[in-house]
Amino acid sequence: MCGFIGVIGSEAAVHEIYDGLVAVQHRGQDAAGIITYDGDRFHVKKGEGLVRDIFSAANMERLRGDIGVGHVRYPTVGSGGGEDAQPFTVNYPFGIVMAHNGNVANYDALRGELAEAGLRHLYSECDVEVLLNVFAKALADKSRDGFTLESYYDAVAECYRRVRGAYSVAGYIAGHGMFAFRDPYGIKPIAIGRKRRPDGGWAHAVVSESVVLDTIGYEHLETGPPGQVLFVDLEGNVTRHQVAPAKHHPCVFEFVYFSRPDSMIDGASVYGARSNMGERLARTFAERGLEIDVVVPVPDSGRTAALAMAQALGVPYREGLVKNRYVGRTFIMPDETQRRRSVRSKLNTIDEEFRGKRVLLVDDSIVRGNTSRQIVQMARQAGAVKVYFASTSPPLVHPCVYGIDMSTRREFVARDRTLAEIAQQLGADAVVYQELDDLIEAVRDEQPEIRQMCHACFSGDYPTGDITPEMLQLIEDERITQGK
Ligand code: 5GP
Ligand code: MG
Repeated sequence: MCGFIGVIGSEAAVHEIYDGLVAVQHRGQDAAGIITYDGDRFHVKKGEGLVRDIFSAANMERLRGDIGVGHVRYPTVGSGGGEDAQPFTVNYPFGIVMAHNGNVANYDALRGELAEAGLRHLYSECDVEVLLNVFAKALADKSRDGFTLESYYDAVAECYRRVRGAYSVAGYIAGHGMFAFRDPYGIKPIAIGRKRRPDGGWAHAVVSESVVLDTIGYEHLETGPPGQVLFVDLEGNVTRHQVAPAKHHPCVFEFVYFSRPDSMIDGASVYGARSNMGERLARTFAERGLEIDVVVPVPDSGRTAALAMAQALGVPYREGLVKNRYVGRTFIMPDETQRRRSVRSKLNTIDEEFRGKRVLLVDDSIVRGNTSRQIVQMARQAGAVKVYFASTSPPLVHPCVYGIDMSTRREFVARDRTLAEIAQQLGADAVVYQELDDLIEAVRDEQPEIRQMCHACFSGDYPTGDITPEMLQLIEDERITQGK
């Protein structure tokens, strides 16, 4: 999972891109990059780590131009260093810059085809480079008489034909303008906005989470319909074109965990959806007939749903776990002991909230179960007499091939286990999961026009219909060799 922002027509482009990347830092803390264009040349800065650690005042000064693209990376394919960070460029045709959010599922096959039939050598392990090369080759073939919008539409159509997986893309073509497109399934979010310039013209931005538009003061224009391409030329004229029929299936995990609660995805409020998840989970929980004295959220992602759940159950909501916000996420720490230690440095209990109580802990999801197990243990040490664990999403049992680095099937604690067995693994007195239908309805309550969603990680039902067992195996093998 990653975050991007593209800006065109703004004098403050690099500053807006920087602020935008900070706003979606939660989407990737592994690496970041910005490439701007000043009408003559590209200016590049990439690095590993957090946005604030990569870009210095001197870099910002150097990244000139009123057009640019930035990206924060959460690795999916390729473990890569700073040089593997997005955006990527090709010099032919025209000079193109591209960044994406998603995952190219047929990466290996395309890489081979590009080398054999396209005579192109890729120099990174980053999947956007494959996408960019498919796009660039098609654009070159179609633009023998110069750049036209039709040649751009054809190049995107070629990507839709050849590139499997999920991708929301932002980029620009030197001397022509900024482009953006979303795959026909619309699995990854994208949003488009604009801002009035002092001279009366418009600056435009394409972002991977709507919250970025708020942060940089752009008005929301649209949510980037699936299968549709967008082009903003140097004069600020916007053209849209439906290249392939939409088969919209937005990712439900964006609502569960990934997106910020203050974002809107395809017209649905993430905060609202999480709140609905809490209400619906309260009903499932009530059917279990378990008595509790208090609901305690696992910060931060469990909070919104936990509050709604407590209200629905008529039980006090207490913040018994305190998070140190300066500790990095535990999920991505490389080895097990390190991960275990870091849960303690990240979370602490307020013992008073647990002592002598029957506690319901609420988190957004249970992945490997390591965090959850330790939190249950901490709750007991703090004096809880019963500890129940609720997940606002169903059991995670299938790998995500569309961009969420969900570990391998073997590692999911819920895989091939009954509820009682999972509870035992976590050391909890019981676990309660959201029903899949309830999860989907929690989002649809916010936006009924969303008819179908991608829930492959829960159901194994991959909406693009082209994910083969071999692809799943490849993804799994790669994650194992990377030691994740
Ligand atoms: P577990 O200990 O079960 O492996 O991890 C569960 C925790 O990981 C939950 O608190 C959830 O918020 C978080 N989580 C779920 N999915 C992801 C993800 O894709 N990336 C990161 N960094 N954390 C995740
Ligand atoms: Mg969490």
